[in-house]
Amino acid sequence: MSDARPAAESLAGRLAEVTGRVSDAARDADRDPAEITTIVVTKFHPASLVEQLAELGVRDVGENRHQEAQAKAAELAALDLRWHFVGQLQSKKARQVRAYASAIHSVDRPALVDALRSDEASVDCFVQVNLTDDAGRGGVAPDDLEALVAHVLETPGLRLRGLMAVAPLGEPARPAFARVRAMSELVQKSDLTARDLSMGMSHDFRDAIMEGATHLRIGTAITGNRPVAG
Ligand SMILES: *Cc1c(COP(=O)(O)O)cnc(C)c1O
Repeated sequence: MSDARPAAESLAGRLAEVTGRVSDAARDADRDPAEITTIVVTKFHPASLVEQLAELGVRDVGENRHQEAQAKAAELAALDLRWHFVGQLQSKKARQVRAYASAIHSVDRPALVDALRSDEASVDCFVQVNLTDDAGRGGVAPDDLEALVAHVLETPGLRLRGLMAVAPLGEPARPAFARVRAMSELVQKSDLTARDLSMGMSHDFRDAIMEGATHLRIGTAITGNRPVAG
């Protein structure tokens, strides 16, 4: 029974399987797999799982809650991982997240941009676009995207990498990702270097790769099911 295998072995198996599927999708999209970064989202999992992933060669990990991310980043500081913050971010926590994150994927409002302003080294960031009508889901409304991008570009301490999005529930992911790709073309009119696309999760990363994703955020397909939140 597969459940009887040691966890690390099945973790390695799932990681290899996803890596293979990423390569297959890249090939089908006529893209070089090397231009696609897989971020393993480890939220709710213990630091020991992140350690196992690091032993398997993972360098990019994602978290969506500040306190948990901060604690894991501190505990695993020796591992030289890149921590990606992918969750909704309160402005008052912004400076603390800057301290350990190599990239923040959830920049979605002017107040957060202001809170991230710094004269120190720049942190990579993605502007998150909301693809739903529900403002509570995080992300800037497409109508407000251009103004927010301009604000990021004029704020010291932020390096705009591109856009981030989560596919809406209950509709096909690929057309949603195609909308993000079209918005990215507009963003590149303001900054040619801001062409990265953080999109694609466990169930839709193939569609995201087809639409140009450069940063996949994959959790359960690699880690297995998340422990239930406490
Ligand atoms: C949890 C999470 C993911 C990973 O989701 P899976 O479905 O487990 O792959 C990706 N992006 C964000 C913003 C998340 O919160």
